[in-house]
Amino acid sequence: MSGLLHGFDLGRMFAHPGFRTTPFTPENLARHQQSHLTRLLHHAQTQVPFFRDAFARAGIDPASIQCSEDFQRVPIFSRRDCQQVDATDRIAQNANPRWLLDRSTSGSTGERLTVKRTWFEERLLNAFRWRAWREFGLRTSDRLAILYFHRAQDPSDNQFLQRLAARLGLCRQQVFDAVGDPGMARATLDFRPQAIAGMSSAIALLADQWAKQGIHIPLRFVATGGELLTEPLRARISTLGAPILDLYGANELNLLASRCPAGADTYHVCDDAHRIEVLRPDNTPAAPGESGEVVATSLFSYAMPFIRYRIGDLAVRGPDRCPCGAPFSTLLSVQGRTIDRFPLGHDAWLHPWEIINAIRPQFRWIRQVQLVQSARRLLVLRIVALQPPTGQELNLLETAATSAVGNRARISIELTHHIEPSPSGKPIPFVALPLTSPHA
Ligand SMILES: [Zn+2]
Repeated sequence: MSGLLHGFDLGRMFAHPGFRTTPFTPENLARHQQSHLTRLLHHAQTQVPFFRDAFARAGIDPASIQCSEDFQRVPIFSRRDCQQVDATDRIAQNANPRWLLDRSTSGSTGERLTVKRTWFEERLLNAFRWRAWREFGLRTSDRLAILYFHRAQDPSDNQFLQRLAARLGLCRQQVFDAVGDPGMARATLDFRPQAIAGMSSAIALLADQWAKQGIHIPLRFVATGGELLTEPLRARISTLGAPILDLYGANELNLLASRCPAGADTYHVCDDAHRIEVLRPDNTPAAPGESGEVVATSLFSYAMPFIRYRIGDLAVRGPDRCPCGAPFSTLLSVQGRTIDRFPLGHDAWLHPWEIINAIRPQFRWIRQVQLVQSARRLLVLRIVALQPPTGQELNLLETAATSAVGNRARISIELTHHIEPSPSGKPIPFVALPLTSPHA
């Protein structure tokens, strides 16, 4: 039980400003952040070998980090830094690994990363997402449809609180699989949701199908997220006829920021759950209005801490307080990931997650994947391996990828040592041909 609860006590959890009904001020938010940072850094140094070693190499004594300026001396970690060590070195020694939920990520970036959380951490981080939905207008008795590309839930995640609430007619939510379930549009309609949330392009797929079938139901809002809300995606989703409110999150830390519900052209940063920095290339803080790389520290991830972690996204820093009066710092825009569908011609599409989901069982030997559409009906699955695969592993991978694609296209596997990142350094997991490509 100590592994499950470690890092928390219930009193502290419910005393958290995010769960108070009285408004909090920027001053007590800053105090809240600093006190949690102090506690987190001490925990990371004493319990997590990865951070103990990194702090020692950088000559940092976490006890000396007392303010924002001090915090800038803490080293910054990339996804690659985290990948290069054994995942057990990133888990706190006072956490029981058997109690941890697996939230490992790979799909939206193409680079595999182990992410573990306690049950409490999972619920607490989800609570910030619920808060955003409530700010968008979700009511306790509403049904919320959540659209993903696969069911991400760890089977060991006992969601008894959620199931209990649903039985009482509260916080009813259901997850729908936009890629793997051909009956998704009908099932979502049958659920009669008052609001829809989920991956932007999953919601766009639903919007396409409902538009085709002439289905219109009143929705309080559509909460997009998980990837960049591009204008084409927004246009498709707008056929649902509901306000579109964007959430900015990352699998490693859950919700990072959410669109200002009062209509200011900003994102409210989830300052009470994370410390979010927008940094210039020289790692100094970007000024308001300036673009930089998002570096995040999760205040409540103790089982596997994320401290000054490069998310891999660019954002434009906004004012330190939203014009709407909310005490949160802001982002003006986020240049996040995009997940393009592969246009196969004649209005046929293939979603990259169909392939990613199929090859998921092989991820144990894969470090990075990239799917490239090299001709209209030809895909190349590029793989950087963690260790050389056996012939059987390669066969299993090829069979899974080929059967996911079916007779819609051909797919070949290419093992490579390096996948070129974008000019900003971000991985590019999916490369689709433009609709009007000469290779069509
Ligand atoms: Zn606002």
